[in-house]
Amino acid sequence: MKSIFIILSISILSNFSIAQSKDSLFIRSIFTETLTNDDCYENLRYLCKQIGPRLSGSENAEKAVKYTELLMKEYGFDKVYLQEVKVPHWRRLNKATGEIRSGNKTSISVCALGGSIATPKKGIQAEVIEVKSFAELDSLGSSKVSGKIVFFNRAFDASHIETFAAYSGAVNQRGRGASMAAKYGAVACIVRSMSYTKDPYPHTGAMRYDAAFKKIPAAAVSTIDADVLSQKIKNPNTTLFLQFDCDTLEDKISYNVIGELKGSVNPEEIITVGGHLDSWDLAEGAHDDGAGCVQSIEVLRSLKVLKYKPKHTIRVVLFMNEENGLRGGLKYAEVAKQQKEVHLAAIESDAGGFTPRGFDIDADDQYVKKIQSWQNLLAPYGLYEISKGGSGADIGPLKGNVKALIGFRPDSQRYFDIHHSANDTFETVNKRELQMGAASMTALIYLIDQYGF
Ligand SMILES: [Zn+2]
Repeated sequence: MKSIFIILSISILSNFSIAQSKDSLFIRSIFTETLTNDDCYENLRYLCKQIGPRLSGSENAEKAVKYTELLMKEYGFDKVYLQEVKVPHWRRLNKATGEIRSGNKTSISVCALGGSIATPKKGIQAEVIEVKSFAELDSLGSSKVSGKIVFFNRAFDASHIETFAAYSGAVNQRGRGASMAAKYGAVACIVRSMSYTKDPYPHTGAMRYDAAFKKIPAAAVSTIDADVLSQKIKNPNTTLFLQFDCDTLEDKISYNVIGELKGSVNPEEIITVGGHLDSWDLAEGAHDDGAGCVQSIEVLRSLKVLKYKPKHTIRVVLFMNEENGLRGGLKYAEVAKQQKEVHLAAIESDAGGFTPRGFDIDADDQYVKKIQSWQNLLAPYGLYEISKGGSGADIGPLKGNVKALIGFRPDSQRYFDIHHSANDTFETVNKRELQMGAASMTALIYLIDQYGF
């Protein structure tokens, strides 16, 4: 009896180690293929240099749709198609002007926030009142705020290890600041850029108006000039002049771009991998999120080149309109529900093309534990951080209709240096880091495909 038990144990263990070595060999081949092929990097170069900024509704966004659709067709994926989605169409129409006026004029670097209304044609000039929080604004009230430009100047908290935590701690100023200021009669608002770095570039991003309050123009100011402004307004009789032009047109038809490798055993069960194709208009959208798009395409390209026959359908989705509406992500989840699709997992890369660290998993503990059990297969590639956490904006709406939502997590330290600013260019992406990210996602998808949930 004892010997049978030992033989059984040995055979279970050896089956386990055969599976492990089969998996580790295949994962090694994924990394070899991705690291020795330039497609992922060159596709990003094309997206950044030949197309460029891709804000929803823009001509460039449509060019990006056509380019990535054609690219996936050329790769010979089993199915490539477009999913129609109506997107908002906000446009920046000039370069914004900001001037501190107190006898002389000091130019400051500003840009309109996405979704803002324009200033009057001649601009707007008013005294500035600086606040660090909505609570501080509330305490000042209409008597101190009415007729002024509210300056939200709460900086990133540098004590956080994860930079996204600092972003979360500051971004409500950008998103809701205008309406919070308008509530007390402010005529405009200006927000310190969402970055640790002291640089001269304003970082744009989405803002939303609360229908209960008047719409006022909203701008971002570079971190360097936020400090200048904060100093200068200590002198009485100092005003700020702002002028910028932007508008919102009718919603426009656009698309999520989708490609699939069909499952050979359970084709009706889907693993989604994606990033967002739209980008802010001030730069090339290289890290945010051209990187996530080309990495997601690379997942399918490399598996196909390796002649891998997935058990489940692996689907790349390039979402439209993450930046200023999330309409692509919402549409994808809506269609998935309507068509009663079964989703095993959805993985998003939307945190930059930097060195991989791991994955955050938004799922029941059993699925988190299952993914963590693959740690020894992923650790050789620097993927040490596999933990429960948030995933990605575009895949978020799938929640409730998917077993695991997974966010690919690269190193976050440099992300906000470039995020939503003129710095987000192809040159800031390192080829090896980008490829390592693509291969990391491919490895995880391979394991999910092999062992399911
Ligand atoms: Zn993004």
